[in-house]
Amino acid sequence: MYIVQIASECAPVVKAGGLGDVVYGLSRELENRGHCVEIILPMYDCMRYDQIWGIHEAYRDLWVPWYGGAIHCSVFCGWVHGRLCFFIQPHSGDNFFNRGCYYGALDDYMRFAFFSKAALEFLLVANKRPDIIHCHDWQTGLVPVMLYEMYKWHGMWNQRVCYTIHNFKHQGIAGSDALWGTGLNNEGYYYNYDRLLDNFNPFALNFMKGGIVYSNYVNTVSPHHAWEARYSDVSYGLGHTLEIHNHKFGGILNGIDYDVWNPEIDKFIPFKYSKDNLANKEKNKKALRDRLLLRDEKKPIVAFIGRLDPQKGVELVHHAIYYSLNRNAQFVLLGTATEPGINNWFWHEKHHLNNNPDCHLELSFNEELAHLIYAGADIIVVPSNYEPCGLTQMIGLQYGTVPVVRGVGGLINTVFDKDNDQYHTKDKRNGFVFFQTDHHALESALERAIALWHDYPEDFKQLQKQGMEYDYSWNLPGEQYVSVYEYIRHK
Ligand code: ADP
Repeated sequence: MYIVQIASECAPVVKAGGLGDVVYGLSRELENRGHCVEIILPMYDCMRYDQIWGIHEAYRDLWVPWYGGAIHCSVFCGWVHGRLCFFIQPHSGDNFFNRGCYYGALDDYMRFAFFSKAALEFLLVANKRPDIIHCHDWQTGLVPVMLYEMYKWHGMWNQRVCYTIHNFKHQGIAGSDALWGTGLNNEGYYYNYDRLLDNFNPFALNFMKGGIVYSNYVNTVSPHHAWEARYSDVSYGLGHTLEIHNHKFGGILNGIDYDVWNPEIDKFIPFKYSKDNLANKEKNKKALRDRLLLRDEKKPIVAFIGRLDPQKGVELVHHAIYYSLNRNAQFVLLGTATEPGINNWFWHEKHHLNNNPDCHLELSFNEELAHLIYAGADIIVVPSNYEPCGLTQMIGLQYGTVPVVRGVGGLINTVFDKDNDQYHTKDKRNGFVFFQTDHHALESALERAIALWHDYPEDFKQLQKQGMEYDYSWNLPGEQYVSVYEYIRHK
């Protein structure tokens, strides 16, 4: 099959979170299975150009219709660790992708409406006719809308769309300018509950809703989150839309790329190891301590890696720091916050704990340090409020770092409590799970993890090994996506 991914991120060249990992990892898996995959991305000024090989101009004069006129674009092409990527660069005073950041501008919805339009226009004029167009998150929600309402009539009638929702929180709320810009125009038609009208704001359009309504298949990134999205409040108002389109909605667990996340070959860690050689994990722990100036004592290292966002349960992350320190453990945090309040809060904590030899808070985005933390820590906490899939617990498992997670979304599909899991026998359990959002709930699980490390080191080691035996690679999800593609292709 010929598959084109249209997305706003692809690791490692553009990565703000898990979306980037998924676009890269899935594309790689699909290619390994013999399919042809191309990825279309915006050409951001701030992306990692050092991660692109052989970048060159592939298409010079792409004129993308926009409002009454057209915007001149160039399309660059290059390889990101073996994946063929096309980067769209508009030459316009709007400076769509020269903002020094990927997201966070007030006109984000227009930036990505333009990107969606430009991606389709590129496929059209470059005569690319993929079997499947795979779109991701709100940024590309308009792709299936425009494909069905406009591009179908220009010859793209045979393309099918799979739409993956990585996070329901950001839905792309827009005004009618998005319609006029893209040429969809007909306000009366799109401001309709059955099409793009936001379920709550009668004056707004919702790109993600458009993606759901117009795609041939919609999925979120874990089976449990798919259930939650329909039956609880985590779909931020889209539950009813999902209910209506239930026949084409499902959950496919993300995978992790075992060529990138593999302690046996990881180039960022000083000592490679496997489940049969956990002694080397100890050496990485020492390296992590040296790097972060933590003292060398007989204590477990508890870690958190992720965005410092309300979604990630920042309040519980904060509590986990002090609880761990009080329970004879060390704590390492690697994260960035976009909300100023949370940012200030953690910078304050960082200064407060600056001289503590058992704690280090690193408030930046640092891929290389992330690898060392996964390898050197003993326990990783993921106390999310909601978690569509979550990669950090799966990476932790792969690195023998025991996850302590809240039982939501993809976390519950991947982590099975050591002491209490009705579906898994003791030899198949791999971490600790708690359910409520209060401090006691977190403590109930973290306490058990830390105590196991101190009091029953052999049992702790056994749990680490059991976690490392799990296969959360792209193998199974790759197979599931291919079945979805095959299914919609022949519909
Ligand atoms: P989300 O997509 O919601 O941000 P995921 O758990 O799905 O969360 O994916 C997070 C990914 O981003 C993981 O690969 C994690 O290692 C990485 N990551 C998050 N924050 C940082 C950071 N500050 N530095 C390096 N890597 C990070």
